[in-house]
Amino acid sequence: MDSDYEKLLDNVYENLPKNTTSVERFEMPKFDYFSEGNKTIVKNFKAVADKIRREPAMLSKYLSKELAVPVEIKEERLVLQRRVVGDMLNSKLEDFVKKYVVCKECNKPDTHITDEHHIRFLVCEACGAKSTIR
Ligand SMILES: [Zn+2]
Repeated sequence: MDSDYEKLLDNVYENLPKNTTSVERFEMPKFDYFSEGNKTIVKNFKAVADKIRREPAMLSKYLSKELAVPVEIKEERLVLQRRVVGDMLNSKLEDFVKKYVVCKECNKPDTHITDEHHIRFLVCEACGAKSTIR
């Protein structure tokens, strides 16, 4: 009986996430996309923008610039006028989130952007930190 209980405990510990601090951390959203002819279509573009609480237009502009490809928002989707291979889109999304979403002080995504005299700031709603955005 006792050893069974110990085995059970072992299993519980094994199933715990290795890094317990990750519980507090932000879960990075991922684009779900596919190619169609010479285009790439991001199916969950709007959902991702909603999740990181940024204007779809701001995110699409960033991707367009970074990937040097014309883009178009079509309702929930984003259409890129080129075939994007590998995980390029998601790595750009990650860059965007690090730059424009996650607080530099506490790493939480509860932030918004303000514009003061043409200087943009990332303001954290969790810890109150304010940092300039280049
Ligand atoms: Zn913060």
